[in-house]
Amino acid sequence: MAITKTDFLEYSRCPRYVALEKVNQDRLEADVSYEEYKNKEYELAMEELLFSMFENNEEGLEDKINVRNPQLEAMLDYYKRVELEAGHLTEKMFPGKTVYALETKNQESFDASYRGMKLLCYVDIYNECQDEINIIEVKATTNKKYLQLQGGYPGKEKYSIFLKENNIFTLKETHKDYPIEKEMPKEQYENLKSKLLDRYQLGAYIYDLAVQRFIIEREYLASNNAEKLKKINYYLAVLNADYVFDGTYENQEPVYHPDQNQEELITFFKLNEVTEELQAKVKQDADHIYEYLKNSNAARVPLTKSCGMKKQNVCKFFNPICSSIIPKKNSALTYLNSAQGFKDEQGHVHKGLGLINEGYVSMFDIPKEWLKNKNHRIQRECCEKHEAYKNIEKIKKGIENLEYPIYHLDFETFPSPVPRFKGESPFTQSPFEFSLHIERKPGVCDKEKDNVLFLATTTKDEREELIKTLLEHVDVNKGTLFAQNVSFEKGRIKELATMFSKYREDLMKLYDRGFDLLWLVKNKKEFYENLGFSKEESETINYYHENLNGSYSIKKTLPVFSDLSYENLEVKNGTEAIIEYAKYDKMSKEEREIKQEALRIYCRQDTWAMVEILNQLRKICQLDV
Ligand code: SF4
Repeated sequence: MAITKTDFLEYSRCPRYVALEKVNQDRLEADVSYEEYKNKEYELAMEELLFSMFENNEEGLEDKINVRNPQLEAMLDYYKRVELEAGHLTEKMFPGKTVYALETKNQESFDASYRGMKLLCYVDIYNECQDEINIIEVKATTNKKYLQLQGGYPGKEKYSIFLKENNIFTLKETHKDYPIEKEMPKEQYENLKSKLLDRYQLGAYIYDLAVQRFIIEREYLASNNAEKLKKINYYLAVLNADYVFDGTYENQEPVYHPDQNQEELITFFKLNEVTEELQAKVKQDADHIYEYLKNSNAARVPLTKSCGMKKQNVCKFFNPICSSIIPKKNSALTYLNSAQGFKDEQGHVHKGLGLINEGYVSMFDIPKEWLKNKNHRIQRECCEKHEAYKNIEKIKKGIENLEYPIYHLDFETFPSPVPRFKGESPFTQSPFEFSLHIERKPGVCDKEKDNVLFLATTTKDEREELIKTLLEHVDVNKGTLFAQNVSFEKGRIKELATMFSKYREDLMKLYDRGFDLLWLVKNKKEFYENLGFSKEESETINYYHENLNGSYSIKKTLPVFSDLSYENLEVKNGTEAIIEYAKYDKMSKEEREIKQEALRIYCRQDTWAMVEILNQLRKICQLDV
């Protein structure tokens, strides 16, 4: 039976998956061609890639889940470039023979039989020299999340659990006599390390590598090559978040030399010990798969973290099938910031999908006594009475704090996995478009006349043009930089200021003028405390409407305040904007013009939406416009 590594990751989720996938004997007995294998793997890689691009963006994640379709192919070239760079660097860093491939079929493959199931994997990079075999799995993500595993003693410096030597990270425990306890308590170190073992969180890619190890070891054992097991190392190769591209090109392609701090574009994590530790878990999962295949059963099972709700590895059956028991509107999961869950009268905590499994599916199923948080009580009351909650005084004071003109600004950005332009790092959110609506006096802003749009019409470096256009139209010495999630716009402005020192002063003046639309609609504790509101009032949301459904994303707030909609637009969200931009070079001239117009309409709508919402808030507060 042929079960690829990608199948293994999916089939082992839960008993229901295999039944819903209708995996039948015929299919399992058929051989898997290299093309089929790679297609499946690329599909998964594209999802992982897109997740990395939107990792810290709640709206982006919503978009990502909606865009599980062939459009993702636009991103394939970027992913392949990461594989290629990792292969080049392996050849440079490791002696011996290195095998890696993109279009060619010469990647090393392994297969092993386990309880009658044929398990199959191809290795991204295989390196062999006299003393070592190095198995390297390439992921288009950065090292940042692993390096955030830091601990320390209270009030003292923080330390990573990894040590970096010659561009390879290893766990500190693998270095004889390393004084871990001088840096952090051992328990804390172990706790941080355990996060690498959680396949549904930080350990997703490591589990993937551990499945390969399971297959590889079995193949070597079956082929009387047990001695090889001692010399195999298992690595993840990921992008180095600290790498800064120096802008060198050859034949118009970027060349990634070590940067001025001698950082390489790709960095390696040696994970022999963690993948070893995971072998028992992988074996258990292989046994589960065997049982699931033998006793196929599509009956509902409890929803767990293996469903991957809102995560990079969301199960493909979650949205269409298994989440159908969760009401689309006002479910038990719509309470704001409720990750910690709700305490019942006995002190037991009920949270996340556990609530659904326990039968608390609607917002109204949660006993009122469990709602200790004022914002939760507000949400509940709004939905019960079908009436919006408004703290007019706070919204009014907030609006009165705005300085004119208001610059409603929105950037569209392309977070390329491999940096494209000088000064950028992997996944730098590189702006290629902005829309600016200038509101000179309260409510005075024309959708067309007061709008400035910049759109890069090529995938070449047009950042300086973008900066110039922006600065030409704003007076950096007065007014307000206004955006929904202004920290994103500020972040881009700051990066541009660092990369283009000529404009640094002006860009940073604009940066300092940031104000977030969400401070008015949702909240901002420090801002309202400074305006003289009590701590409790400052912590409480300003506005809630049942149609927000627990989210203040622009997609949710806009219909509450305006008739504008993204539904009829050709480009409907940020992910689609990125994909259209990424496809520029593959489009005919005519097609490109049509898509660029769609991009302009989309981005203009983003800032016009903010103008409309602000006006609506003024009306709610009966402020003159
Ligand atoms: S969504 Fe969850 S319960 Fe449904 S098949 Fe996937 S893992 Fe299983």
